[in-house]
Amino acid sequence: MDNNKSVALFSKAQHSIPGGVNSPVRAFKSVGGTPLFIKGAEGAYMIDENDNKYIELINSWGPMILGHANPDITAAVQEAVNNSLSFGAPTAKEIDIAELICEMVPSIEKVRMVNSGTEATMSAIRVARGYTGRDKFIKIEGCYHGHGDSFLIAAGSGAVTMGVPNSPGVTEGTAKDTLLAPYNDVEAIEKLVAENKGEVAALIIEPVPGNMGLVIPNEGYLQSLRTICDREGIVLIFDEVMTGFRLAKGGAQEVFGVTPDMTTLGKIIGGGMPVGAYGGKKEIMEYVAPAGPVYQAGTLSGNPVAMAAGLTMLNYLNDHPEVYTELAQKGEKLAQGIKEILDAKQLPYQVTLLGSMICIFFTAEKVENFADAQTTDTEKFGKFFHAMLDNGVYLPPSQYESWFMSVALTEENIDSILKAIDKSLDVANQ
Ligand SMILES: *Cc1c(COP(=O)(O)O)cnc(C)c1O
Repeated sequence: MDNNKSVALFSKAQHSIPGGVNSPVRAFKSVGGTPLFIKGAEGAYMIDENDNKYIELINSWGPMILGHANPDITAAVQEAVNNSLSFGAPTAKEIDIAELICEMVPSIEKVRMVNSGTEATMSAIRVARGYTGRDKFIKIEGCYHGHGDSFLIAAGSGAVTMGVPNSPGVTEGTAKDTLLAPYNDVEAIEKLVAENKGEVAALIIEPVPGNMGLVIPNEGYLQSLRTICDREGIVLIFDEVMTGFRLAKGGAQEVFGVTPDMTTLGKIIGGGMPVGAYGGKKEIMEYVAPAGPVYQAGTLSGNPVAMAAGLTMLNYLNDHPEVYTELAQKGEKLAQGIKEILDAKQLPYQVTLLGSMICIFFTAEKVENFADAQTTDTEKFGKFFHAMLDNGVYLPPSQYESWFMSVALTEENIDSILKAIDKSLDVANQ
C-alpha cells in the first residue's frame, strides 16, 4: 500500500497545524504511523490521496449512517447553497427540524440548535446549573462529552488516547465542581450524592459509552440513575451525541426505556455538517435565553445549509425505521463472525455490540467500565489496526473508540471485513 502522498501532506501539515490535524485522534498517535489524507468517499468506501480505497468503519465518527455522498442529502445541501450560506436570522427549516427532533426523541419538548456536540454539552450543563441553582455535576469516568473545560477530567476518546485525562489549562476551580464515578456503579453515585447533598445540579452520562470503546449498561443501571436523580432533584442529562438517531430513532433512551430530563445531540443530527443540539423538558429549556436568564448564543447556529442536511437525514431515518433493523442484522453478522474467529484462534478478547456500534477489546477482562477498558493491549491493537489498513479496512485509529456501521455496508463488505480481521489478528499476535 503506497501512502507517500499522505506522508508528504502530514509532514507539510505539521508546519501550519498543531500536530498536523484539526482533531487529535486523527493523528494516529495511539496506533503509530502516518494518518491517511482522504480525498473522497462514496457509500461504504473512503479513498485516500494515493487512490487507495478502504471499506471504512468510522463514518465520520457516526454521522455517515446512510453512507458517504448520500444523494438526498447532497441534493438538499446543493439547493440550500443557492439561497446564500447564512442569514443570521430565523428560518422556517429551523422549526421543521426542531419539531422533528421533538417527535423522534419524545423526552425533548424544546430544543436549541448549536454547532457541535461540545457546545451542546457545555450549554446543557450551564442550563442545568441555572435551573437548579447548584454548581456541581457528576460525570462518569471514561465518558467523553467534548472538550469543554469541566468535562476534560477522566474523559474518554482522544483524551484517553493522548494520555492526558486532565488537560493543562483546566483550572482546579473548574475541576472541583466535576464529581467522578465509574460507569455501571450505582453505589458510587449514591455515595457522591450523599457527600454533596443538595449541591449536585446534574448527572451527565453517555447512556451507552462509545468513547472508551463500546460499553453496555448493566441491567437496571440507567433506571437506577433516573430514580436517584428524581429523589435528589438532579437533572439527568443523556449525552446522545453518538447514540442519538443511531441506536434507534429515539436513541439509547428509547432502547433502554429510560427518560432523561435533558438530551444532548450531535454527529448524525447534521448529516455530516457541523451541528449539535440540546433539549429537554419544557420547564428546564424555558431557562434558555431569550426565554429565560441562562445565556447561550451562536452566530451560525441553525445555519441554513447545515439544517438542510440535518433535516434530510432525520426525515429519512424517521420515514425508514427499517434502517435500524437492517443495521442491527449487519452488526449481528459482523459480531458473530468476529466471535467465531476469536474462538478459532483461542483469543480471549471481548466483543461488544449494540445495533450498529461494535468494538473488540484486546483484553480477557469483561469490560464494564473505564478501568476494565484500560486493561486492553493497545500495542497489539495498533498492529491490528495497521494490518486492517493493509487489508483494505479503515477502522477508528484507537482502541478506545467504537466502530460505526452504515447502511451502505453490504453483506459482501462484511465478509471482506471478517477476512481482514482473521488475517490481521494473526499479524497482531505473531
Ligand atoms: C463526539 C462527542 C461529543 C463532542 O462532539 P463534537 O461535535 O466533537 O464537539 C460529545 N459527546 C459525545 C458522547 C460524543 O461522542
